[in-house]
This record gives sequence, C-alpha cells and structure tokens, in this order.
Amino acid sequence: MAAQSNQIPANPDLVIIGAGVVGLWCARKAMQSGLSVVIIDKQQVGHGASGGILGALMPHRPVNWTETQAFQLDALMSLETEIARLESETGLSCGYNRCGRIMPINSETFLAEHRQWQAGSKQRWPAASVSGAPVFWDIIHGVPRPGWPRLKSAYVGYSFDTMSARVNPRSLLKALVHAIKHEAVIVENCWVESISETGRVFLANGTSFSPGHVIVAAGHESFALLRPALNCQLGWGVKGQAVMLRPARESFANQPIIYSGGTYVISHGDGLVAVGSTSTKAFKDDRVDELVTHQLMQRAGELCPALAGATIVEQWAGIRPRAAGRDPVVGRLPGAPDIIVASGGFRITLGIAHKMADAALALVRDIPCQLPGSFAVEKHVAKAS
Ligand SMILES: Cc1cc2nc3c(=O)[nH]c(=O)nc-3n(C[C@H](O)[C@H](O)[C@H](O)COP(=O)(O)OP(=O)(O)OC[C@H]3O[C@@H](n4cnc5c(N)ncnc54)[C@H](O)[C@@H]3O)c2cc1C
Repeated sequence: MAAQSNQIPANPDLVIIGAGVVGLWCARKAMQSGLSVVIIDKQQVGHGASGGILGALMPHRPVNWTETQAFQLDALMSLETEIARLESETGLSCGYNRCGRIMPINSETFLAEHRQWQAGSKQRWPAASVSGAPVFWDIIHGVPRPGWPRLKSAYVGYSFDTMSARVNPRSLLKALVHAIKHEAVIVENCWVESISETGRVFLANGTSFSPGHVIVAAGHESFALLRPALNCQLGWGVKGQAVMLRPARESFANQPIIYSGGTYVISHGDGLVAVGSTSTKAFKDDRVDELVTHQLMQRAGELCPALAGATIVEQWAGIRPRAAGRDPVVGRLPGAPDIIVASGGFRITLGIAHKMADAALALVRDIPCQLPGSFAVEKHVAKAS
C-alpha cells in the first residue's frame, strides 16, 4: 500500500521524485546502501513512460565507439544479473529474455553497413553473456532461419544479433516495487511543486521537508522541475505510441525482436506481440491517437506479413524524456550538490536505468563513479542554452 503525503518522514536520507523505472532502481540501490528512502509520484507507480508495453533492450550499433556506447553495453550485460537477482528475491518474473534481434537487409548498400556493425561487434562485444550464452552478430543470406517469421523487405537477407533482449516493463516495475516496499516509503498522488537550491522539497499540498539528498527522476517532467534552478530547459518530452497485438497465428511466440526503420516488433512470450513506436515532438497530451495506431498496424503488416489480421489487445502512448545533449543526464545540479538528476534516457532507459541509479547513488554517497562526461548536467546546460 502506498503511503499518504502526511506520512512522509521528516528527514529521510533520500527523496526520489518519480516512480518510473529510473526512480525505482534508485530506490532499490539506496536501500541496498542502507539509506532511508521516500519515493514520491504525482500519480501512481509506472504512470509515466515506464509503464508501457514494448521493452526492447537493443545495443547501439558498435561503430564510432563512444563512452556512451560503452556505458550502454555494460548496462545491457549487467542487467541480466540484476534481473536474475530481483526475480529470485521477489519470486516475480520480469519477462526478461535475451531473445536476440533480426533486421531485414534490403540492399547491397545496407548489407555493407551491416557488415561494418558485425565487424564492430567482434571488436567491442564480449564473447558471451553473464549466463554464458554466446554474444555475436551474424548475417544470414537469403531465407530466414527455421522458425523465424519472413520479413517482406529482406531481399538480401537477415541481420541477427544475440545481444538484444526484451523485458516486460510493467512486470519489471512490479518486481522493483515488491523488492522495496517493506523498507522504502512510496507516496503516490503527491505532486512535488518545487525544490529549493538547498534541497528543500515543496509539495502541492503546502507542506515541505528537507531530506539529506534529492534525486530528480521525474522523466520528461524533470526538466520543468529543474528549470527555475538552472534557468534553462534541460530537455523535453517526445511522445511515442505502441500497440499490443494478438497474432492470428500462434507460431509467433518467443521470436527475436524484429527491427526495421524505427519499427520494433517484440514477441513477449505470452503469445502477445508489441509493436512500436512513433516519435512526436509536438503534442497536446499523452492520449492514444487511433490514427497513429492504424499507421503502426500498417507498418507491422508491411514489415512482417505474419502479423496481418492480428487483433488489437491494447493501445498505449507515453512521453519519453529527451535531454538537450541527446545522452541521458545524470549528475549533481551546479550550485546545489544535494540535488541529483537522473533522467533523459529517451529510447534506451529500460536497459540502462539500473546503471543510471548506480551512478546517482554514488553521487549521493560521495563515492567515485564512472559516467560518460556527456551525462553531466553542465554539458546538457551548454547544449540547452
Ligand atoms: C512508446 C514508447 C516506447 C518505448 N519503448 C522503449 C523500449 O522499447 N525500450 C526502452 O528502453 N525504452 C523505451 N521507451 C522509453 C522509456 O519508456 C522511457 O525513457 C523511460 O520509461 C523513462 O523512465 P523515467 O523513470 O525516466 O520516467 P517515467 O517513467 O516517465 O517516470 C517519471 C515519473 O515521475 C512522476 N512525476 C513527474 N513529475 C512529478 C512531480 N512534479 N512530482 C512527483 N512525481 C512526478 C510521473 O508521474 C512518472 O510516474 C519507450 C517510450 C515510449 C513512449
């Protein structure tokens, strides 16, 4: 049961604003460090972008290697262990599976690009995952492997990697809540109106309190919350939409992720298949647009004929946080060292949130942490100005 705002302890070690995937991982890591934690959400756990239906955990293309790619790779590898631990502690499944990914190769030009990515994977990726499963990038000419769906535009062949995985976002959030609920105070329907430079948290109901530290993990709304302190907008929201389908044919269960031109098809192992997603910078609200669903259905059928005739089980829309410098933003607020921001993971947050949380907690505890320089608040401020 979530607590009421009048049950917030006066001076917890840490207050986390936002109960999405970032906030919940932060709460778990804080508890593991022995800190008293209050996590506050203006609505309910998972009401933001984290409560969606896709859950692709896909690596960046392993070329033009950067610190950010290394961070993401490390995160995707370590997530396997983190999830195994979470599942064994809670007895709940997160719907995680290193299912791999296939992409259609439609031309010789695209084949050359895929060969580069394959070469990059040999240089950058480990040979095996934590569980010992081999990690590689393969190119298959001609027909798909037995069991894979046929992809319409695979004129040349298929690109396949075993690094990509999937998770059920809602199951992950449920397991995280289960793991923290006996020690952390979770306060729902409680809006944080502002935070002072000294880290005093002001609630919409007129009360305020002073925790030891504050982590701002309010998704795209982090940027508005931090605007008065930074005097600039550190990022913005990008609306996205997805649809959950029940395919006409049962043989679609437990396929690799299918990815092409911004469309993901994720078979969740329960017979349902999520298709997404769209990106809209200018939007009025986070409501589902039926026309967009129609476009997604069309894209799914064009990519993968086996999805034609599927029935819609759920339509879902959410707003992703996109920081000004493109990379996530994780760091102390300049001039307000007790306020830490962890947001802006955009399309890859589900795969890196636990590592963003590790870094945020290292800042809270004032211990060294390795973060790409581009994640620093100052870097994003420079891009925003
Ligand atoms: C259609 C779509 C598909 C996606 N697919 C994938 C995918 O396949 N893989 C992937 O890795 N990522 C995906 N993403 C991106 C991912 O979902 C987000 O980047 C991620 O969920 C952001 O997590 P978060 O915890 O930062 O924010 P959120 O989940 O948005 O959580 C923020 C929370 O803060 C609360 N809050 C906001 N303001 C306040 C306030 N003032 N006071 C108190 N509480 C507040 C909100 O109510 C919310 O619950 C997708 C996003 C969308 C929209």
